[in-house]
Amino acid sequence: MVKRLNPFFSWKIFSGRAPQNGPLVISGPCSAESEQQLLSTVRAISSENRVHAIRAGIWKPRTRPDSFEGIGAPALSWLTMAGKQSGLPTMTEVANALHVEQALNAGVDMLWIGARTTVNPFFVQEIADALKGVDVPVFVKNPIHPEIGLWLGAIERLEKVGIVDVAAIHRGFYAHRINPFRNDPKWEMSIELRAERPDIPIICDPSHISGKRDYIAEVSQTALDLQLDGLMIESHINPEKALSDAEQQLRPHQLNQILSSLIVRDEDITDVATVQRLEQLRGIIDQIDQQLVEVIGRRKEIVELIGEVKKENNVAILQFHRWFEILKNRTEQAEALGIDGQFVNELYHLIHKFSIDIQQQMMVKKEFGSIYLGDPEGSSIQQP
Ligand code: PEP
Ligand code: MN
Repeated sequence: MVKRLNPFFSWKIFSGRAPQNGPLVISGPCSAESEQQLLSTVRAISSENRVHAIRAGIWKPRTRPDSFEGIGAPALSWLTMAGKQSGLPTMTEVANALHVEQALNAGVDMLWIGARTTVNPFFVQEIADALKGVDVPVFVKNPIHPEIGLWLGAIERLEKVGIVDVAAIHRGFYAHRINPFRNDPKWEMSIELRAERPDIPIICDPSHISGKRDYIAEVSQTALDLQLDGLMIESHINPEKALSDAEQQLRPHQLNQILSSLIVRDEDITDVATVQRLEQLRGIIDQIDQQLVEVIGRRKEIVELIGEVKKENNVAILQFHRWFEILKNRTEQAEALGIDGQFVNELYHLIHKFSIDIQQQMMVKKEFGSIYLGDPEGSSIQQP
């Protein structure tokens, strides 16, 4: 059985204490609130040796004014004290050059750039400039909207000033309406980042994806199954009383319980019977996919015939009642077969966009681009 080698194992800061197979685990409170809160949380989460680094927010980027914005510089000594007592490296979020200077002077071991900072190249460059000539590991959270370029750009800005140990944190993406998570995981974004930069370790922040304690185990397991290299999970000695992100922080025993139940699955299969069974099933999938593409091709031919009829008779491309009927009917059909209705609903938005594009090109014969009706989440053409 072959397990993926954890890239953090070779990072100097962990001096071989990061796991060789299995996830790096960073934990600690969303915010450092008091010396007692931070030290007691860290004591409890480090007792079972499942945590490899300590996090705590000192300066908190809050969406609305009048929220708790962190203790600021006075809390830095609590964090370094927590590091000394636990023997674990510490990390905090920096959003400008002053944060960098104060965190490094206090002896914080690693830094991360938050999602609201990664979106702004000026801020990232300011941080990078402050780090010139400094040997400190830096983690870059994904920007709040799913733009891979900004995420890569922040990593590159750090590399250009000489930061050697850079990692990415996948914390999910803002979504206007997302259920049940606080942030849309969009797992494909970390897969894309890995494809672009296979050399950069990626960890997952299931706390900010989930927004709720109850989902953290599931999101963490998915992250491991997608071969991410670690987890940053918020924990608090008394989450109900937390000054920020109260609903998503875990009690130390809950953290330990989740960490002990995570399964690290193998990257490659070497067992002959398993390989054969998978090959057989994948052969069937290949045949079904071939049929699926053929069916889409047949549908396209009919879409073109309909387009001709509409053009000859001056009929508009879109009839809403027909579109709503298709959506409702196909979704119900899917659900009757035990297929997720939302999935089929989204699939039909895509199929319908394709049909409209074809007919639009037949009508206007110009490159006007698509009159695509918007995101499947969009409100204007939701199922009635
Ligand atoms: C945090 O980690 O507490 C935080 C503010 O995260 P993000 O930048 O992902 O919102
Ligand atoms: Mn938080």
